[in-house]
Amino acid sequence: RAKEAGKARYEIFDRVMHAHAVNQLQLESDLRDAIAHQELLVNYQPIISLTTGKLTGFEALLRWEHPSRGFVSPAEFIPIAEETGLIITIGEWILREACRQLHTWQLQHQLSNSLTISVNLSSKQLREPTLIKKIEQIINETKLNSSCLKLELTESMLIDNIEAVISTMSQLRGKEIHLSIDDFGTGFSCLSYLHRFPINTLKIDRSFVNRIGEENENLGIVKTIITLAHELGMDAIAEGVETQQQVNQLKALGCDQAQGYFFSKPLSGESAELFIATHKI
Ligand code: C2E
Ligand code: MG
Ligand code: MG
Ligand code: MG
Repeated sequence: RAKEAGKARYEIFDRVMHAHAVNQLQLESDLRDAIAHQELLVNYQPIISLTTGKLTGFEALLRWEHPSRGFVSPAEFIPIAEETGLIITIGEWILREACRQLHTWQLQHQLSNSLTISVNLSSKQLREPTLIKKIEQIINETKLNSSCLKLELTESMLIDNIEAVISTMSQLRGKEIHLSIDDFGTGFSCLSYLHRFPINTLKIDRSFVNRIGEENENLGIVKTIITLAHELGMDAIAEGVETQQQVNQLKALGCDQAQGYFFSKPLSGESAELFIATHKI
């Protein structure tokens, strides 16, 4: 009987695995068409200066409006895009779209070069030999001032092939593009190496910011990351800020900027433009 039960369990497991694999394959094939069918969109989440209270820029976040499934979360499709290499095409697409959009807003609202656009880069993109060329091309094409572009990398990208990564990052910095480390504190990066990378900004992961305010559980960690950033000549942005109390504490700790639902959820292009108009510099 034990054997029978085991077999039944195995069959259930097998069916679940099979359904999962079919689902992944379907998503993968749909994702291939998503760009051509214009199902990908960019949302823009405002980033706010904690010293002036003003809008400093936006983070561009991918959205997929699937024809039958509806909204598919980036948490679900970015890993597929990375595994299949589709992230190269998609990553280039959002970079161009985001740069084009910011430049349009700068012209329409006479912003000169005052706002920035942050774009997430995947590790595949960072390792692509033509990355620098492509970015150069996008900057030229969209006429965006390169100092208005910020690229977000994660700690895990700083672990392998350090020399090559430093070289790529230095070339980007040479073009005045800003570099941020996203979700900082979750990737166990080697702190003694951090100063070797030409990084401008540490973005404090949401999971730490979450737990200040009411509970003071992570106040020490948040404070340490802000101090670390400043010691290394970088600035700190808090991610996932949801309450006034969190804002107050972050200000008291000297955190430079913040992003989160307290200020605004990620917005459609249209709503982001309204946000600019109502928070005019
Ligand atoms: P991320 O780069 O750390 O982006 C921040 C995520 O936190 C976004 O989720 C945003 O909607 C969410 N968020 C912002 N404020 C709050 C808040 O106050 N509370 C809560 N609970 N969440 C908040 P989203 O848009 O679902 O994106 C998830 C991740 O997918 C991103 O994390 C990023 O790693 C990845 N991603 C999104 N767009 C791209 C892209 O164009 N390229 C690449 N390579 N990755 C992307
Ligand atoms: Mg990010
Ligand atoms: Mg993040
Ligand atoms: Mg995150």
